[in-house]
Amino acid sequence: MRELTATLNMITPLWTGGSNSQMDRVHVTGILGSLRWWYEALVRGVGGEACDPRDHTCIYTSEEEELGLCYACRLFGTTGWARRFQLASINDGQAQGLGDGVLRTDPTIRPGRKGNGATWYIGKGSQPHAGKIELHMMSALPAARLAASSLAHSASRADPEVVDVVGRLMQFVGWYGGLGAKPQLGLGRATISFSPALSGGNDPLVGHLRHIADDRKWRNTSTSRPSLRHMFLAEIQAKNNGLDPNATVNLKYDLRALFRANPDQLGYQTLRHYVMGHVPQGIGSSDKERIRSKVMVSQPLAARQGVLGNRIRIWGCIPPELTFPPGSTMPSGPTAPAGTPGVIATRDRVITSIHTHLTTNYTVLAWREMNVPSRDTTALTDPLEFLSTLLTEVPR
Ligand SMILES: [Zn+2]
Repeated sequence: MRELTATLNMITPLWTGGSNSQMDRVHVTGILGSLRWWYEALVRGVGGEACDPRDHTCIYTSEEEELGLCYACRLFGTTGWARRFQLASINDGQAQGLGDGVLRTDPTIRPGRKGNGATWYIGKGSQPHAGKIELHMMSALPAARLAASSLAHSASRADPEVVDVVGRLMQFVGWYGGLGAKPQLGLGRATISFSPALSGGNDPLVGHLRHIADDRKWRNTSTSRPSLRHMFLAEIQAKNNGLDPNATVNLKYDLRALFRANPDQLGYQTLRHYVMGHVPQGIGSSDKERIRSKVMVSQPLAARQGVLGNRIRIWGCIPPELTFPPGSTMPSGPTAPAGTPGVIATRDRVITSIHTHLTTNYTVLAWREMNVPSRDTTALTDPLEFLSTLLTEVPR
């Protein structure tokens, strides 16, 4: 079976969790979680089915084997079906101190509730890892068997190896999103090289997804789960002065405020929590009530060889129509009127607000999004073509 070593050169530190919210070493489960999230979004983007692992909808049976599982479970495994590749850390890089583990906005401009800066917590002594991290990857099955195994394959086409598919996926996530946990705080950005080199350029991942796009049986039916079709991927730069170390949380604060300043908009607090996330305060609040941010803002990226500094990457996934059950309430939020579907905003309205804020206050170096010519002039409608351009263009 094919083996690869992936060398991650961390641009922003990697956080994979650990015991007591401290990162004693690189836990590959944290990396696998982020890879699965993106893989699901790509699979749904090309029209294939990827379940939400929290729903536990895929059940392995010995009659159907992997053909009874969604594509994400086929590759990443589920009860009764092992993951199709192995991943192990062979070099953990260096732990990087983060002081008290709190990121704060400038309190004079962006005050928090108690007059201090608004805060985001990574965790005291959390020690994300930086520098050079090396991972060992090994295939367990040719990827073509994962993709629509019922389809007839051309004998002349070599089956891509799983590690080449996953390697390309890892590279994509390192460029555009974040590996590991807490991507909403901009962690986990990396450039990644492989030894031996990945085979076949973009083809293993794109070709693998093309098989999935051709499968007529396992079709995605969800419009609310993350999908490449509903993403935006952008890079911005400060217009005048450099970005300060708190630029990430300052921008998050400003984006959150976009959805605070629309009191005419029905359910605007619900919308704000939905788009930018919400952690319930107080005793008795459970993790279930926690709402994940749909918009991720990277740490300011320092200048590297041949690459401009003072940049922030920002990306997100907003479904086409933001609906909430009638009468649903967020903690201390307004109630949607009973008897209505609870539609509070369209994707376009949300992203237009974000895009306008960024073009007004920053230089937008890149903005990629499917099928929206006003923001991405390529206006691509085919997700495979869109992905190919993302993989081909070397991110700045
Ligand atoms: Zn599944």
